[in-house]
Amino acid sequence: MKILLVNPPNSGKNIIEEKYGISLIRETFKGEPLSLEVLAGNLREEAVDIFDMKADNTPYEQKLKEFTPDLVGITAMTCEANAALRILKETKAYSPKIVTVAGGIHATINPEFFNQPFVDYVVIGIGKKTLALLVGYLKHENELKEIPGLGVQNNGKFCVSPQKTRQEDLLEEVLPARELVKKYKSAYYLNNFNISIDFVDTAYGCTNRCSFCCLWSITGGKYLAKTPQAVVRDIGFSESFCVRLVDANTFGNSRRAKEIASLIKQNRINKLFVVDARADTIARQPELIGIWKEIGLKAVVVGFEEIEDIGLRGFNKRTTADINTRAINILHENGINIIGDFIVSPEYEETDFDKLSDYVGKHKIELPGFSVLTPLPGTPIYEQFKEQIIIDNLDYYTLTNAVIRTKLSEKRFYQRLGQLYKRFYSQSLPKRLLSRLIFNETAIKTIHSAKKQLRRVFGC
Ligand code: SF4
Repeated sequence: MKILLVNPPNSGKNIIEEKYGISLIRETFKGEPLSLEVLAGNLREEAVDIFDMKADNTPYEQKLKEFTPDLVGITAMTCEANAALRILKETKAYSPKIVTVAGGIHATINPEFFNQPFVDYVVIGIGKKTLALLVGYLKHENELKEIPGLGVQNNGKFCVSPQKTRQEDLLEEVLPARELVKKYKSAYYLNNFNISIDFVDTAYGCTNRCSFCCLWSITGGKYLAKTPQAVVRDIGFSESFCVRLVDANTFGNSRRAKEIASLIKQNRINKLFVVDARADTIARQPELIGIWKEIGLKAVVVGFEEIEDIGLRGFNKRTTADINTRAINILHENGINIIGDFIVSPEYEETDFDKLSDYVGKHKIELPGFSVLTPLPGTPIYEQFKEQIIIDNLDYYTLTNAVIRTKLSEKRFYQRLGQLYKRFYSQSLPKRLLSRLIFNETAIKTIHSAKKQLRRVFGC
């Protein structure tokens, strides 16, 4: 069977830029569509191609003509859901014979959204096994009723088959089909730094229940971690000098985190790592940061979200402001850069912006991110805020827009948001950070790929 897996184009919209002409001077990263590579890895008997519309300007119809797929599968986050629908509609219009499948985060938290005449199936959750079973069904190898986590029309009613995600659903023996995105390699880079980064998936889901987050729903609230051996194997296959471990909390299980570090050392893997970690994990196990620093940890993404206990409680974050501060200190004592996420509520007043700006400045967060609180459908805060939503168009659910009414005037709210970015993302930042975040003398001397990157960046 010929299967085309599609990563939809950038389709999110930003009011701050569109309406107020304020540019968010910040780093953007065009990452590889790892989730599609993972799906493709489990379909090796089929003729699969990945069409990354974020990296490839080929008109979609031309791609359909050239590849002639039997099945088109698309993955989408909430802000890409409309774009995914448009593409699936275009697919059916091009040929009603092509089987259309929607999957990804938005399909998982809101499968009904894809209940459309031009969408044949909706895949929920991780999807690796479900999609392979669906392909088997289409080839008359198994029964539809045996497939868990599949949304389909049944006698005019849209039904989703039950699913209990388990460890074996990770199918970790199956390698991601990285070769299918090799053609786009040059597009996967940090714009300002011109550095490419590979993604490696290490675990899925989360046991926490932060009220704004939809990540945990992928596994029904479980944290399903790949074995250290599988993680290190995948790191070994990555070609880039920098590796981003994609995971809600890479250090969530300290024994496993230590084992991964030890295997990286044993295998003499010389790479720089960026990981995600919760502040409470860092505060509880500071030794892990030291261990990982030794094997190349350069930056940690931490979702601080709020700077006061009351806000953290409101998000059910299960941390405190004191824990956040301890985590910041531990990371800085170890020379690790912090990519810190903060949530800006549309209910912010002038003083709230002042306090957040002071906090980030005082704690010297190297790369702060300011997400606007967005009630994503399917999350607890959606229920809390749904009556106050003034923008329904999911194109604006990019976490940069106030989709509920702002307390300040809308213009003032975006001015203050723009000021946060302006303060922490001055023009000189990229090169300064480049030297701190990516390179150090030893790495430059010993790692050939770093030399190549250096030549590309500085033209030397
Ligand atoms: S924000 Fe992070 S810790 Fe909270 S539920 Fe989501 S993935 Fe888990």
